[in-house]
Amino acid sequence: MQQTYSLQRLSIDGYEHVYYMLDATVGLEGYIAIHSTKRGPALGGTRLWSYASKEDALTDVLRLAKGMSYKAAAADLPLGGGKAVLIGNPNTIKSDAYFEAYGRIIDALKGRYITAKDMNINTDDIQRIARQTTHVVGREGKSGNPSPWTALGVFHACVATIREVFPTRELSSLSFAIQGVGETGFHLIQQLVAHGVTSILISDINPDKLQRVLTQFPFIHVVDDSKLLAAHVDVLCPCAFGGILSHHSLPSIQAKVIVGSANNVFLDSEHDPQRFHDAGIWVAPDYMANAGGLINVYYELENKHDESFLKTTIQRIADRLTNLYQRVKQSGINPFTLSLSLTQSFVE
Ligand code: NAD
Repeated sequence: MQQTYSLQRLSIDGYEHVYYMLDATVGLEGYIAIHSTKRGPALGGTRLWSYASKEDALTDVLRLAKGMSYKAAAADLPLGGGKAVLIGNPNTIKSDAYFEAYGRIIDALKGRYITAKDMNINTDDIQRIARQTTHVVGREGKSGNPSPWTALGVFHACVATIREVFPTRELSSLSFAIQGVGETGFHLIQQLVAHGVTSILISDINPDKLQRVLTQFPFIHVVDDSKLLAAHVDVLCPCAFGGILSHHSLPSIQAKVIVGSANNVFLDSEHDPQRFHDAGIWVAPDYMANAGGLINVYYELENKHDESFLKTTIQRIADRLTNLYQRVKQSGINPFTLSLSLTQSFVE
């Protein structure tokens, strides 16, 4: 078959490889960033999003790829960090030809980058990519959709963080606000409800996603997304997009615990983490809390996909956070900055 794509190598400090990819025959455009392969092949999902510009897409892929290196190291997995973003409207751009073309691009990287799902990519899309490459995980009949495992890890991270802030409260007595009830948000709700939580507020920009939750859990309340961050709740769970925690949002946030699946939740990751900590808000480092999906797909690579083993392994996210919080209390440094400094030597 004639090659229809181009891969242009970009030189970006601090990254092993960054590529701009284009296949005009199927309308495919995006970036693949390999931050580090020091610990192993770079594994990270593909995100499909209607980015406003190529610059926005590049910024996103660079932040996400670096986050994956830290996530793998913090979860003690022999993996490096990488990520891909595809620029396009998720409602109109998808086709067999589109994902097969993308699969050929992944294959051309010869396993340096292994892909999985991220926002707006589902298991069907993963199957279509897998027609052209073996360097893809989260396949049907293998580890499948990683999102329930990510949500399980976020749940354990919630429990560990809540223990620091509300040591005497029962989980079921606490109130939660969840931004984004897609794959991870929905499964997080299932975990919370299974553990007796009844006070849950949700927001989403997609009415179908809200309806799916309300059909199964009619007691849950929907609020307008603009009001969710300021809701009077104990725990806030960002499960949609990053960059929502900033000096702009801080004054309105009422929750004392923030734990979610969303990557890169701090807008300014240098200054915002300490601002939140000084305000008495405990924010679980996102890349530690949301590692459950990565742990799940890693064991697909290892052909060791056993449910009870995975559950125990993912539960260790809580132990890692509890250890981190001990050090936070001794040092006064916020969890995010402290965890980065403890992990850095294993990554870079
Ligand atoms: P998803 O696309 O299934 O769900 C995201 C939901 O957020 C969608 O329903 C979308 O409509 C909603 N949304 C988008 N913008 C919003 C906004 N401004 N306000 C409210 N809702 C909004 O994605 P997902 O797989 O659940 O991932 C959510 C986040 O978790 C992403 O940041 C992703 O990178 C991260 N993450 C996911 C996994 C995983 O296993 N799926 C693993 C690690 C991290």
